[in-house]
Amino acid sequence: MELITDLHTLRQTLALHREHRRTLALVPTMGFLHEGHLALMRQARHHADVVVTSIFVNPTQFGPNEDLAAYPRDLDRDLDLCRSAGVDLVFHPDARDVYPRPPRVLVHAPDLANRLCGLSRPGHFQGVCTVVTKLFHLVQPDVAVFGQKDFQQLAILKALVEDLNLPIAVLEGPTVREHDGLALSSRNTYLDPDARAQATAISRGLFAARDAFQGGLRDPQDLIRIVQQHLDAQPLALPEYVELVRADDLTPISHPIDAPAVIAVACRFGRTRLIDNIHLNP
Ligand code: AMP
Repeated sequence: MELITDLHTLRQTLALHREHRRTLALVPTMGFLHEGHLALMRQARHHADVVVTSIFVNPTQFGPNEDLAAYPRDLDRDLDLCRSAGVDLVFHPDARDVYPRPPRVLVHAPDLANRLCGLSRPGHFQGVCTVVTKLFHLVQPDVAVFGQKDFQQLAILKALVEDLNLPIAVLEGPTVREHDGLALSSRNTYLDPDARAQATAISRGLFAARDAFQGGLRDPQDLIRIVQQHLDAQPLALPEYVELVRADDLTPISHPIDAPAVIAVACRFGRTRLIDNIHLNP
């Protein structure tokens, strides 16, 4: 496995692969890898000759009061994990090389960004669209793999690829969870034991709502209330939103649910902001 930090070396190395007609898959990450990331890498392994993972904590997607400086980092451990997942090339650039000057051109996020997480994280999805576009240009992958855990991000990036006519197949991987249901996240490491125990209320609430849906409950407000009740029972939980939206355009879905839908949650536990979601298919 190769580690490349320099943009020019990356282009040269990948050009060589392309000359040999090898297909490329890209799995973008911010590092501090866990089983959720590794599952995407293994999925990528099945769809291309060369698997590239980027590890880059992208400053333009963090707000001024967010955790850019504190975001957990452990490159040596990440490299071992990438190797174990069959990654061929890790791209780990320096922020000064990715953004040699304050960016003059930013990629405008679609309307899909003006709801859910976009409301409390202004500029976040513009930063995501900008860095992913840069990574797409640098790597020129045939395939890119993203997780359903960040389902709003996934919807936005699918729109980006479609609207900008990028010749990239976007694949998605299911959310990987701890044994007690908590969705894996690099930010889980911020949780103290009490918050960690209470954070399972998010997935418990989502699973309970899904069970009720599968049992025939179709009223969005009733399903949302099930999740809210689980969160309200936790003294440390500060829910930001619980919403039930259409899976295609993320707009609120009215009663009765007759199209694929998603219940999405963002909830803080102290300084830690967690998100999760579950799909409902009528
Ligand atoms: P991040 O490093 O948090 O920016 O995530 C990088 C990629 O991994 C994104 O496509 C995420 O959606 C995906 N991802 C993060 N957590 C999970 C998880 N628990 N299960 C599946 N994919 C995940």
